[in-house]
Amino acid sequence: MLIDRLQKIENTVKRYGEEKFAISFSGGKDSTVLSALVDLALPGNKIPRVYANTGIELNMVRDFVFDLAKKDDRFEIIKPHVPIKPMLERDGYPFKSKRHAHHVERYNRIGMCESIKSYLGEGTWGKKQQCPKKLRYQFTQEFKEKLNVSDLCCLRMKEEPLTEWGKEHNRPIAIVGIMRDEGGRRENAQCLVFSAKAKKDIDGIPDKFQPMSVVTKAWEDWFIKEYNIKLCDIYYPPYNFVRTGCKGCPFALHLQEELDTLEKFFPAERKQCELIWGPVYDEYRRLGYRLKKDKDVTLWVRFKDEKDYLSKKKYLPVVSDDAKSTYLVRLYLEKEKMIKTLHVAYKKQIKVLTDQYSVVCGSDNVRCIS
Ligand code: SF4
Repeated sequence: MLIDRLQKIENTVKRYGEEKFAISFSGGKDSTVLSALVDLALPGNKIPRVYANTGIELNMVRDFVFDLAKKDDRFEIIKPHVPIKPMLERDGYPFKSKRHAHHVERYNRIGMCESIKSYLGEGTWGKKQQCPKKLRYQFTQEFKEKLNVSDLCCLRMKEEPLTEWGKEHNRPIAIVGIMRDEGGRRENAQCLVFSAKAKKDIDGIPDKFQPMSVVTKAWEDWFIKEYNIKLCDIYYPPYNFVRTGCKGCPFALHLQEELDTLEKFFPAERKQCELIWGPVYDEYRRLGYRLKKDKDVTLWVRFKDEKDYLSKKKYLPVVSDDAKSTYLVRLYLEKEKMIKTLHVAYKKQIKVLTDQYSVVCGSDNVRCIS
């Protein structure tokens, strides 16, 4: 396999000319192996390693690339035109999968059409091709106003900046580390910057070359061991990360596990995920989809006695119920011997409410129980 891959790289690069190529380098395991393979096949090559610094890469991975760039002038660090948050608000958030997000975006743009009908189970598509029943509510005007969903994030944050860089530097062919798993599927399809099929320009030059497309995880691990390839520290104990794509990406199938791991090792980055992806996470939690379902909260406020309650009553915050909102708060004012139920739109409003009661009654007398 190794000889075969090295020959493939050598022949392909010689065919189009080394000056036409650039390696798409993410700092992850696959692109580190890819870079090492290219160096083995073409010793002394000057092919640039281009890294898109999107602001959503794990800090350790970003720093790993920055360190490599200090020692190796073939590294190029580029940035997308728009920072992640304004881009998401303008172009739409990822939700569930690229395919799902694409259909929601299409529905919002052009309305109902045959392919969306099929996705919603009204055509000939099989069950596996269809939208899960619990997400069909997203094909409505109401949901469009609530959350802007699209599949444009990868395009805006990675593909466009990398393609533009290739055009500017006349290096149209991106070498990408797309692999397959043992089942023959594309292993890293979730974080796929480039589509699988190469497109050719009018001179017959492809836009990508995937020398690792026939490589398995097991072979990759063998290669790393055999050639003593140094990966980013995040792959080693105590972190032992398996996947290092964009942090907290809502497309991640095991998002809850990823966030729990981030919480353990990088709590500040875990918080950052909430700031970036909050609107999607809120919807995931409301549905109990990919993230643990939100529990309703009881806000319990204690008063010393009747006199204490009456003296504070007029200062207690007036909270109105927003029946359309997601989170249910049961407010239990001890001396009123009753529970009011309130709906609030954002989880942080529960914290605000707790703080407001704490100001009047003292924090020792306010308990938020979930
Ligand atoms: S993998 Fe996720 S977070 Fe990263 S660019 Fe693509 S959609 Fe955005």
